[in-house]
Amino acid sequence: MKAHDGMYIGGAWRPAAGRDRIEVVNPADEQVIAEVPAGSADDVDAAVRAARAALPGWAATAPAERAALIGALRDVLLARKSEIAQTITAELGSPLGFSEMVQVGAPIAVASSYAELGASYAFEERLGNSTVLLEPIGVVGAITPWNYPLHQVVAKVAPALAAGCTVVLKPAEDTPLTAQLFAEAVHEAGIPAGVFNLVTGTGPVAGQALAAHEGVDLVSFTGSTAVGKQIGATAGAAVKRVALELGGKSANVILPGADLAKAVATGVGHVMNNTGQSCNALTRMLVHRDQYEEAVSLAAAAVATYPSGDPTDPATRLGPVVNAKQHERVRGYIAKGVEEGARLVAGGPDAPHERGYFVAPTVFADVTPEMTIAQEEIFGPVLSILPYEDEEDALRIANGTVYGLGGAVWAADEETAVAFARRMDTGQVDINGGRFNVLAPFGGYKQSGVGRELGPHGLAEYLQTKSLQF
Ligand code: NAP
Ligand code: MG
Repeated sequence: MKAHDGMYIGGAWRPAAGRDRIEVVNPADEQVIAEVPAGSADDVDAAVRAARAALPGWAATAPAERAALIGALRDVLLARKSEIAQTITAELGSPLGFSEMVQVGAPIAVASSYAELGASYAFEERLGNSTVLLEPIGVVGAITPWNYPLHQVVAKVAPALAAGCTVVLKPAEDTPLTAQLFAEAVHEAGIPAGVFNLVTGTGPVAGQALAAHEGVDLVSFTGSTAVGKQIGATAGAAVKRVALELGGKSANVILPGADLAKAVATGVGHVMNNTGQSCNALTRMLVHRDQYEEAVSLAAAAVATYPSGDPTDPATRLGPVVNAKQHERVRGYIAKGVEEGARLVAGGPDAPHERGYFVAPTVFADVTPEMTIAQEEIFGPVLSILPYEDEEDALRIANGTVYGLGGAVWAADEETAVAFARRMDTGQVDINGGRFNVLAPFGGYKQSGVGRELGPHGLAEYLQTKSLQF
């Protein structure tokens, strides 16, 4: 596949400072499809300098003009949609239809939302005898994961640019080609040199250098809780702002009286989409004791409609997981579930195909709240179904993890579902199958993170206040 042998810094592709390389692997067939440079601290330094140099001009650009350039960026992403989707499928393994509709469709919608919000947002407010100015925080260091390689980038870069910040991006080493296409789109859209900069590389080298760089004012990270804690500590020590979008173990609570068949089918789809590699995946399904066995059979039937295989084949609904490490890790969790006494009703730890990092769509019943598979983020196509006795029991189980990112409640009516959702310790709850909304704040309670992305709340993360008293 096409790849740039350089970093996008100061509006041009420049050779990397060192010689280290990253091999990009197609997880469906384990073949190397491209190589990109692995950036060093020197590349990060050059990128941060470029972003700093561009900051005064960009911060002083009228919000409507910045917003118009985000609109132009959206137009380029739209025009290059199928090329980007093919690249995401090649380096991540998500089925092509999903890549087009969700992996590229969602970020186009997010870019559109910031093209509008950036122009209409009130960057000034009046409070008594004060005028409060909402000013850009400065240079943003963005560190993103591989699971939604374009969306996670756009969810940081679009609001940062709308706010008047400049950005250095360090994307996941597994999905650098999508990030390179994004940099091309930024260039094609006519966004001024240095406003957006890309350094490909590994987390411990380029990521760490970016998080620690004194020229970075805000570190925005999405990924694992383990790395998020380190980044939070690094940023805290330097009194730098930090936004962390971390893991989850979200509960899908089906209350008595809900449409059980619809709730189970939707819930299974939510976990199987993107091969379970969504931070807000509803991986714990909570069902009342009286309906439990019925829900388990419905779930087993539903996963049978997710054939795995070549992600470019339109019949495929389940791609591989992203890499060999995740392949081992996810199947290790499945083995652990069996070992701890959960009942396997579909799937299992064996790889279903000889080649590629495939995991069988897996459903566990008789899962208890303390089991490892009910507590830790698996990040694979694995659903746990837990029985509850009554609403209080369901709430205790739903809230009984260190995480609080997503969630869902199904009930006979919206009022009952909303009453339950109010008591959940989590950042988002889908009511009776409510759909994803690009304007709704996205982020975690507890160890699922700090700060919010998307919509006006996401824009506010990139601003700092100055108050003038009259
Ligand atoms: P990760 O290591 O947290 O990766 C996220 C990003 O952080 C990547 O760009 C990574 O670079 C970078 N990074 C890693 N170590 C760093 C460091 N010391 N300093 C600065 N940046 C660093 O996640 P992962 O290893 O890819 O996945 C492990 C687990 O994390 C998954 O199984 C899943 O549970 C969770 N996860 C959650 C999300 C989410 O959306 N919440 C997304 C992905 C993964 P490299 O790509 O080079 O490692
Ligand atoms: Mg990693």
